[in-house]
Amino acid sequence: MQMKKFLFSGIAAALTAGAFLSTSALAQNNWPTKSITLVVPFAAGGPTDTVARLIAVPMGQSLGQTVIVENVNGAGGTIASTKVARAAPDGYTIYLHHMGMATANALYDKLPYDPLQNFDYIGQVADVPMVLLGKKDLPANNFKELEAYIKANGSKVTMANAGPGAVSQLCGLLFQSRMGVKLTNIPYKGTGPALTDLLGGQVDLLCDQTTQTIPYIKDGRVKAFGTTTLKRLPAIPNVPTLDEQGLKGFEVKVWHGMYTPKGVPKPILDKLNAALKKALNTPDVRKRLEDANIDIVSPDKMTPTGLKSHLEAEINRWGPIIRKSNIAD
Ligand code: ASP
Repeated sequence: MQMKKFLFSGIAAALTAGAFLSTSALAQNNWPTKSITLVVPFAAGGPTDTVARLIAVPMGQSLGQTVIVENVNGAGGTIASTKVARAAPDGYTIYLHHMGMATANALYDKLPYDPLQNFDYIGQVADVPMVLLGKKDLPANNFKELEAYIKANGSKVTMANAGPGAVSQLCGLLFQSRMGVKLTNIPYKGTGPALTDLLGGQVDLLCDQTTQTIPYIKDGRVKAFGTTTLKRLPAIPNVPTLDEQGLKGFEVKVWHGMYTPKGVPKPILDKLNAALKKALNTPDVRKRLEDANIDIVSPDKMTPTGLKSHLEAEINRWGPIIRKSNIAD
């Protein structure tokens, strides 16, 4: 009798384990069975939000479930990164963030997450250039006049950014450090609202991505003093680079990656990676990004290893630059 009971409990355990395994394998196979949240670490209407909403629709189409964008603002993106790091690793929370995922380590003393331990990686997305912008009636019409104006007015000049960890803050502070000036830096929940204030003349300067700003540069509603690329941008060929105007080697290229919390099963990560690749291959997504001089990354970078190795390299690259320029909080 004892042996029979033992055997029976052994079979029951095996069946339960098997059932559990097949359930989780089944669940992974059927995933997704509900909508997916794509977290964006800045306010709606900004460059990160724009890229997210562009790719959310085709990703949802290929996954067969809606991808809903959720804007989680604040602290230069670190509030959103913390929320995603703590989310359930079930594939229903994904994250689009830019190089702030790498620079936050050097900008903050302590972070409630580790970009290399608390996330899984879907792939790199796109690289976005930046432009140093001024309000329309700023009394400077080129870089030389801007240099004279900010040196004469110092902290009376205001510069918008999206908080410590945002690329607008990194670009703005690196610019000030290189120019040897200290302006009054005004944080926003994203460069969407910051650009609105620049257009309204409420703030003097903003270093922002090209995602939304090309049309305003072209029609003169903002002034463009220089791009953060080493070559001029085809969409705005008359705007010189900051490098050619004396800020040698001034380059900030805003790369973007897609992440999940750590621990998402590989079959689900593979589905998310395939959906991302498909979305970035969609003709209207490609056109919208290319019109803003946004470079969609090559297929080898649109992979988990491509993103993780780039993130590691960028953490190592930006740490010394940020510490040397003394712009950390
Ligand atoms: N990319 C941020 C946004 O979309 C701004 C920034 O990082 O400067 O608002």
